[in-house]
This record gives sequence, C-alpha cells and structure tokens, in this order.
Amino acid sequence: MKKSKWLAILVAIIMLAGIIGSLCFIIEYAHHDCCGEDCAICMEIEQAAQLISSLKIIPVLMVLPVILCAIAQIKKSVEECFISYDTLISLKVELLD
Ligand SMILES: [Zn+2]
Repeated sequence: MKKSKWLAILVAIIMLAGIIGSLCFIIEYAHHDCCGEDCAICMEIEQAAQLISSLKIIPVLMVLPVILCAIAQIKKSVEECFISYDTLISLKVELLD
C-alpha cells in the first residue's frame, strides 16, 4: 500500500516535470530564427505541445472513476433512504412462544 503511494507520487512528479519542462521549452524557443519548413526547433515545440495535450487527458481519466464511485455512493444512499426492508428485527416484533 505504501509502496504504491510512493509510486503514484513519483509518477505525478515525473508528469509535472514533463509539463513544466515542455512549457519552459516552448516559452524559451517561441521566438526563434526559424529556418523554414524542416526547422528542428519547430518540430520540438510541436512535440512539447503534443506532450502537454496528451498529459492533460490523464487527470480527466483519473477523475472519471471518482465520479462513478460518487454516483454509486449517492445511488446507494438514496436506496437506503427510500427503500426500507421490513424485517422482524427492524419492526421490533417480539416473538412469543
Ligand atoms: Zn522554426
């Protein structure tokens, strides 16, 4: 359990470093002396932008199970509130011989 927590933190740090590094690269080389169609810097900027856009999807995918769990929990609560199962114990029926 604790090992997976550290792994999640490490993955988050790596993702954050990737995003920050890509943003810094794009900002640093946004205004460069472009040599034309096959410019290596433009290709790198495009890859950095693609990395950022692909990493933006991951948090959305991570939130989706949380939303589904919340919906399931709300459904369960509603069912508990409105559907009551009458049992002899819940009705406090005293069984006499
Ligand atoms: Zn260029």
